[in-house]
Amino acid sequence: MLENKKEDQTKLIYPDVPITSNQISISKRVEKETAIENKPFEVAKKQIDIVAEEMGLNHNIKKFLKRIERALIVSIPIKMDNGDLEIFEGYRVHHSTIRGPGKGGIRFAPNVNLDEVKALAMWMTWKCSLLDLPLGGAKGGICVDPRYLSRTELEKLTRRYTSEIINIIGPDIDIPAPDVNTNAQIMAWIMDTYSMNKGRAVPGVVTGKPIEIGGSVGRETATGMGLYFVLEAFCEKLNLDLKSQKIVIQGFGNVGGTVANLLFKEGCKIVAVSDISGGIFSSEGLEIDKLLKWTREGKYLKDYKDERYRLITNEDLLTLECDVLIPAALENQITETNANEIKCKIVLEGANGPTTPNADKILFNKGVHVVPDILANAGGVCVSYFEYVQDIHAYFWDLERINKELKMIILKAFEQVYTLSKDKKTTLRTAAYIIAVSRIVKAIELRGIFP
Ligand code: GLU
Repeated sequence: MLENKKEDQTKLIYPDVPITSNQISISKRVEKETAIENKPFEVAKKQIDIVAEEMGLNHNIKKFLKRIERALIVSIPIKMDNGDLEIFEGYRVHHSTIRGPGKGGIRFAPNVNLDEVKALAMWMTWKCSLLDLPLGGAKGGICVDPRYLSRTELEKLTRRYTSEIINIIGPDIDIPAPDVNTNAQIMAWIMDTYSMNKGRAVPGVVTGKPIEIGGSVGRETATGMGLYFVLEAFCEKLNLDLKSQKIVIQGFGNVGGTVANLLFKEGCKIVAVSDISGGIFSSEGLEIDKLLKWTREGKYLKDYKDERYRLITNEDLLTLECDVLIPAALENQITETNANEIKCKIVLEGANGPTTPNADKILFNKGVHVVPDILANAGGVCVSYFEYVQDIHAYFWDLERINKELKMIILKAFEQVYTLSKDKKTTLRTAAYIIAVSRIVKAIELRGIFP
């Protein structure tokens, strides 16, 4: 029975995870892990305080920016393969729909909680605004470790969650997308559940779908591609030769894996990468193409055998000596505890919220440039926007057009951020926030407060 589950999983997300503990205790295990101290929404609100001060925003606007428009908590009962009933908790949050429908991913992870989803929704508002997309900020998630689910259980979980949040999603309301541990197949189940309820195909309800049912070419690699474009442009500003940069990447999934591949092909030396199992390091550089082949077969980096490589922990990886550090896993990785130990020139934020405000200050004082998440990893939502536009028009673009328009939009935002940070002598994050928040403030002023 358990062996079957393992086989099922192989096709989807975490292929080669040994199922050691018994299925009955999944929700208990998840509960315990959620207790870990983690307050990303406080971080997100603090970031508003910093920018509000810089912009001289009045306290009423500040209050408005910090609030969440709506948050839905849903219970998701699932009849497991072994006949037991498990109850999972899911969330969908709209931070702001003032500039358009909510937009943001859905993550399936053991630490997902309302506080985290609220922060992530708020970050999506700034990200979409910074790119000047006509979209708002939203996010969703389920507190679950999908490694312990069979494919059937995962499908049931996705469909029931979709059904529970169905009234607050839709092409004109809020458009989910992939995020941590979710992928095109999961988006297909969301689209199907929504469409079955409406009685017609509604591809525009999600982005990051398989291409065959209205997805966009280039969506899967978009976040990594955006990181690459931004790093290339930033190196040019700093008079650095991209090819000779020594790179460290935390996370080797869709985001970390893609950017690693692009930089490796460019000729950069990637000295360390990591996944959930830990990291591997080689001062001579890693063979990223071979590692990608390995992990795409569902295997962990820690099990990769090469005598030239050394195993390291995810924490040690962050403090390695390098030129560019790319945290591309989860939030809260560079904190005041380890910021002093960071030894790179540039932090390029592939994840959402990997650096806390206190760590930001420390890095600034050390002269480390932080390219903020809302700019650096915005390639994903940018191509999601293209997917949404293509679905509405029922007319699909080729990869060349996708990458050309992605580069144009993300580099325009980069130029604006870079120029403002120079003018105002601020960090790139503060500059990015000023641009993003200004557009939201303008929309609030124009629309007014109802009634
Ligand atoms: N989950 C991605 C992000 O955090 C993409 C969101 C989207 O495409 O809507 O930016």
